[in-house]
Amino acid sequence: MADHQLFIDGEYCDAASGDTFTTYDPATNTPIGEVAKADKGDATRAVEAARRAFDEGPWPKMSGKERAAKLRKVTELIGARSESFAEMEARDGGGTIKKATFADVPGSQSAFEWFARCAEDQPDEVELPGTPFPPSQNWVRYEPHGVCTGIIPWNFPLIMAAWKIAPALAAGNTSVIKPASFTSITALMLGEVFQEADIPPGVVNVIAGPGGTAGEELASNPLVDKTAFTGSTEVGRRIMQLASGTVKAVTLELGGKSANIVLDDADLDIAAAAVLFGTFLHNGQVCESGTRALVQRSIYDEFLGLLVERANKMVIGNQLDFATDLGPLVSRGQVETVERYVKLGRDEVGEPVCGGGRPTGLAEDLDEQAFFEPTIFAGVDNRTKLAQEEIFGPVLCVIPFESDEEAVAIANDSIYGLGGGVQSGDLERARSVAAGLRTGTVWINDYHLISPERPFGGYKQSGIGRELGVEGYNTYRQVKHIHANPSSGRDGYMHFAALSSEI
Ligand code: NAP
Ligand code: MG
Repeated sequence: MADHQLFIDGEYCDAASGDTFTTYDPATNTPIGEVAKADKGDATRAVEAARRAFDEGPWPKMSGKERAAKLRKVTELIGARSESFAEMEARDGGGTIKKATFADVPGSQSAFEWFARCAEDQPDEVELPGTPFPPSQNWVRYEPHGVCTGIIPWNFPLIMAAWKIAPALAAGNTSVIKPASFTSITALMLGEVFQEADIPPGVVNVIAGPGGTAGEELASNPLVDKTAFTGSTEVGRRIMQLASGTVKAVTLELGGKSANIVLDDADLDIAAAAVLFGTFLHNGQVCESGTRALVQRSIYDEFLGLLVERANKMVIGNQLDFATDLGPLVSRGQVETVERYVKLGRDEVGEPVCGGGRPTGLAEDLDEQAFFEPTIFAGVDNRTKLAQEEIFGPVLCVIPFESDEEAVAIANDSIYGLGGGVQSGDLERARSVAAGLRTGTVWINDYHLISPERPFGGYKQSGIGRELGVEGYNTYRQVKHIHANPSSGRDGYMHFAALSSEI
């Protein structure tokens, strides 16, 4: 029996093959446990359970209020287990215990709470103004799609699971989720929560297993109505292809290379903190990370000095220690990717002004191959690969600019359009710069703050559609227009003459 089993049709179970895979704590490279490894057949089984639960079960027929009460129970039960969720989230993915405690666990709870509110507050039916000639009465109904699948990445497993499951369930859909293979445990742990919250069997299913088999099935099975994916742009393109076979609704949250613009009137102390937070939170393994800092020329030298001084003070170490700022990256493979980019940066740009290698002097039990120093390249040309490609690691490019117009042009010179920042003492000026950015979110004098009440998603190759907010809720609802002709005589049917006056 696997230590961490699949959750299908309300029950925990092994993969039909009995196969498992090992998941590791990247800091020490030690196994945490054996996870059941779903293959295509297990994914099909989960989709079929979700289909039955939608077609025959009570969930889509329940009122929004009833569903909201169950989702609130989920929020409460996650809270009751907050320490074990936080610890497992940090161990399995390498994120710090600070991030897990203050962001991941409460972030997943607040998503269930927000979508519970949507289920209560957003009307299922709205009457539109009618028309006298030809006479009509009109309604728009908002209905669930049916079976919604979600495929999620390893950087925020619990929050990502909540962002996919909560809106689907709130709107009356059923759901199948596949977490990333590096970090499957906390999403699987949610199964117990759903059991205890008395969510009917099949309404939510969680399977772990390889993207290439279990994941592809979730994006292609004809019984699935909508698929939502968060991950790399490359796999996002594949998901669209797979979903096109039966024209499923698709939402994608993909990569980014966001710009954080520091204007010359910014409070440099706070702006430096915002740039460091925006870049190095979770070692830069965050899709909206502001990994290009665009700094106005007149403050450039002073600002760069602040960045380097403070980046060097960040504490690298065991992610389970509350004193740690930067834990391991998710895997040795991810560290190797970062190393490749840093080598490329040395060729394209020159020596980094800070970091540039694996840290030394770590505690003995830590696997130094899993860690990387916060690294800053200065004087970077935005056209370099270093500034154009998503690294997903602790690497910042600092790029000088002269005017606000130039800053906007540089920021927009990217295939991505997910996030961005403007640091400035003048809100009107900052808003005007923000208006020019072709991205889904802009933070002024801040960074990374995402709350479920507000929409999140990408322009350009950063994605399609929005998660969160009312906009995100509505991506989980079909729109049905009902037209009724209230006329009592033939006068109301003059338009039939478009075919023939004889009918
Ligand atoms: P990834 O390789 O795209 O994987 C994401 C998920 O897709 C995983 O569950 C993976 O399963 C699965 N998958 C892989 N190949 C698949 C396929 N052919 N069909 C179906 N599913 C497949 O990305 P990642 O390495 O986990 O995450 C890093 C990337 O995600 C970065 O580029 C980052 O920008 C992006 N990201 C974006 C957001 C956002 O909100 N926009 C958030 C987080 C991350 P396995 O784990 O089994 O491979
Ligand atoms: Mg792991």
